[in-house]
Amino acid sequence: MMIPFNKPHIAGNEFTYIERAINNGKLSGGGEFTDRVQEYFTDRFKFPKVLLTTSCTDALEMSAILARIKPGDEVIMPSFTFVSTANAFVLRGANIRFIDSTPDHPNIDPCEIHNVINEKTRALVAVHYAGVACDMDRLIEYTSERNVLIIEDAAQAIDSYYKSRPLGGIGHFGTFSFHETKNIGCGEGGMIVINDEEYYKRAEIIWEKGTNRSAFFRGEVDKYGWVDVGSSFLPSEITASFLYAQTEKIDEILNKRRSLWNRYQDGLMHLEDLEVSLPSMPDYATNNGHIFYLLLRTEQERDDLIRFLRNKGVHAVFHYQPLHKSSYYKDFHDGRELPMAEKFATRLVRLPLYYDLSINEQDYIIDSIGQYFSVSL
Ligand SMILES: *Cc1c(COP(=O)(O)O)cnc(C)c1O
Repeated sequence: MMIPFNKPHIAGNEFTYIERAINNGKLSGGGEFTDRVQEYFTDRFKFPKVLLTTSCTDALEMSAILARIKPGDEVIMPSFTFVSTANAFVLRGANIRFIDSTPDHPNIDPCEIHNVINEKTRALVAVHYAGVACDMDRLIEYTSERNVLIIEDAAQAIDSYYKSRPLGGIGHFGTFSFHETKNIGCGEGGMIVINDEEYYKRAEIIWEKGTNRSAFFRGEVDKYGWVDVGSSFLPSEITASFLYAQTEKIDEILNKRRSLWNRYQDGLMHLEDLEVSLPSMPDYATNNGHIFYLLLRTEQERDDLIRFLRNKGVHAVFHYQPLHKSSYYKDFHDGRELPMAEKFATRLVRLPLYYDLSINEQDYIIDSIGQYFSVSL
């Protein structure tokens, strides 16, 4: 028996909707299911404008184009994040100013902003790690004087909130992922949310390869052509129809994930007596059950636990390696130490968490962790 780290969940109507997309005779993007998914997200979360993309990576690249990032501009983001958060801006010539995580949570530490913000700072990316909100009010407060755009990397944050506001809907732009490892998915997929009306038109143009095709189809212009830069950010109807089936079951999927998350929390609570930490949850944030992790006492212990669980048939994994020390970026980094990012990189372990994980399997994982620490949990 091997309990995998992740297993994509099939909600039920995927085949039905893919078949309908085929019967519609339109497989490229922008058809019935693209519209339905976009409507679903604007209705449910009151996002003012959303565009489906082929990935969150693409949604981040769209936001870098929308923000008119140019060579020499600086963009602030956490070091403890996925490479796409940084790549999107590096591709446009930006210098990345990596800052540290908070001591209690991998999210960006607002207190670190003053160390790097300057007249070249153009944007700040707030990555909501594990679907837990960054302290948005403070990020906005510490950047507002300088006209810095805020982009939320909400890849992990579907249906999660900051002071009752849905994540992805607070900054200038928000980006989501529907990769198979996220709470709802379609293999590869994503979405950009545009919260400031000033950017709606240009977002559609960038999305449609730099053309005003969307305006043309609405009858707003009588010809369409190349009007700006852009790329192929629009997913096919096959992808959108699959994703539509997932949106139908979003509450059930998220409730199950939250309940598994809570069972880990209850089952592993006593590890805190050994100074092994469980995830911390600020009171302004909600939990969408995306990731459950433990923070071990040392890197050695983290690696030993992963090995121990592997031998027990449980696939647990660590997470991001700090980007400021990556082989690609280390020579561009400004040299500041980021000890919290390194702490989470070396001591964090994620446990299996997915819709189809059974209670028995979860109990087995919890017992195995108890065995590792020689305590009964
Ligand atoms: C998953 C993830 C991404 C990338 O999403 P894709 O849809 O795979 O491109 C970006 N940022 C974060 C924080 C992620 O977790």
